[in-house]
Amino acid sequence: MANERPLELCCCCDTPTDKAGASEDSLYTEDGEGPYCEPCYNDAHIEELEDEIVTLRNNFHRDLAVLRHDLDLRKTSDAMQLQSDTALVQELRTRLDGAHKKIRELMEDRDA
Ligand SMILES: [Zn+2]
Repeated sequence: MANERPLELCCCCDTPTDKAGASEDSLYTEDGEGPYCEPCYNDAHIEELEDEIVTLRNNFHRDLAVLRHDLDLRKTSDAMQLQSDTALVQELRTRLDGAHKKIRELMEDRDA
């Protein structure tokens, strides 16, 4: 009786997750959906990351377009502003690369 744990089922495929409750490493996405079994969690996480990549990519292209536009407008503009714009684009590119890398790792884990 003391060892009785609630049976936690995957919210996606109804397989028991072998975990019980958030205190026991149950798998939830960052949006709070779950609990998931491990294969479903990987799939859900990959989907989340793919959504994140779409957003990052859109932001990246938008910022890049703004930057190009600014460059055309002020050929002799102040170098400080240009530097911070370039840093922003660089930051987005780094985050985009990071998200791509996470997806590759998750897919390798899943297909292993
Ligand atoms: Zn599942």
